[in-house]
Amino acid sequence: MSSAPGKGAAQQVRRTPKDTSQGEKRYLDEVAGRLLAPLLAKPHSSKSGWRLVGWDAEQGLSLFLEGHDRVLLLELDRLDESKSCYARTARFNVDARRHFDAGTPLDRMDRAIVDRLVAMVRHQERGLELPERPTTGRRSLVRSVNVERVLIPEGRNQYYVNPYVGCTIGCPFCWAAGRADLSRHLEGLPEMEWGRWVDVKVNAPEVLRAELKLHPPGPVRFSPVVTDPYQPLERKHRITRRCLEALLGSGFTPGILTRAARVLEDAELLARIPGAAVGLSIPTDDDRVRHRFEPGADPIEDRLEALEKLRSAGVRTFAVIQPILPMKPSSLVSRLAPLVDAVRIEGMQEFEGMAVLYDEAGMSEAIWREETARLQRALFEGFGAHGVPVDEFDDLGELVADRSN
Ligand code: SF4
Repeated sequence: MSSAPGKGAAQQVRRTPKDTSQGEKRYLDEVAGRLLAPLLAKPHSSKSGWRLVGWDAEQGLSLFLEGHDRVLLLELDRLDESKSCYARTARFNVDARRHFDAGTPLDRMDRAIVDRLVAMVRHQERGLELPERPTTGRRSLVRSVNVERVLIPEGRNQYYVNPYVGCTIGCPFCWAAGRADLSRHLEGLPEMEWGRWVDVKVNAPEVLRAELKLHPPGPVRFSPVVTDPYQPLERKHRITRRCLEALLGSGFTPGILTRAARVLEDAELLARIPGAAVGLSIPTDDDRVRHRFEPGADPIEDRLEALEKLRSAGVRTFAVIQPILPMKPSSLVSRLAPLVDAVRIEGMQEFEGMAVLYDEAGMSEAIWREETARLQRALFEGFGAHGVPVDEFDDLGELVADRSN
């Protein structure tokens, strides 16, 4: 996947000196733009009825196509022949699915457009030579970057915003780690351990303000996995807060998901945005378990207290139990049920090192899979008994859309 230094796509991009007053220019979109050039030049095809509504290069490459009363999501991940996927190119695994409706399989019309796009990627990637990644002696890096796009449309007038890329909370199970590293590779940045690097989008609030004028209002997800909007750096940089201020009075509705009780610092602001919703990820009721599996995240009690206070401030609240960790389900249900409008429950997603993590926690992966299924059933029944809807939204945008009317 690599070529000699100096010939790679990232090196071909003209480098300009740092803007020291703000941040350095980020080249990721430029590099990804080369790969997608034919599509970006003609994002709308009246013949096929499909339109590219949005794209993103921060977690591999993601493309959102709208047409024929549906939205398709194409994702380009690192080439890995051990993983199943829709198609493979010389450099990427390509996945495709119905966005907002993952349970419906692709039909012939969907597959026709996806196949055309896979053919385009195969053609374009021939000219994409990825650079050898430089090494770094640094153990951590917080980089201030200037970006040109912040509001990412994902179809149906729904959007998402990543105020940062990277997350110092650094959960070992974080699904974003590998995908975000592919994006760093595309840009020619050194490999660094997940949790030890963050790009701070210092100009995001100003860019967002301008973008809001160009799109119809709708729900805006903050924290679609490649960062946590309230990670510790938010206290210093306040990028998330300033993005929320940009949304104030715009008709756009934020839906936030975080593992950090720090979101409370914006409770008053959030209460002033009609329909705003905040979710806390709370994967267990046991803080010793939390400490083992997500040592960089806030204590469980702090997150429960944040939900309670947000609710008292008039903000709509929900919880995401992901990944399901060892717990007493009846205890978590009784603590959460009075504090939330809805709950989503998900098990651990596969990741390299998963067996080791379970091993260190003193359990085998196989036994834990069975236990997860049991806990999931108990949680469903428990929340059901309290009248709290479970898994009735595919994503945060849908939750905000459903409940902001
Ligand atoms: S808080 Fe979220 S984004 Fe951050 S490392 Fe953990 S799972 Fe990943």
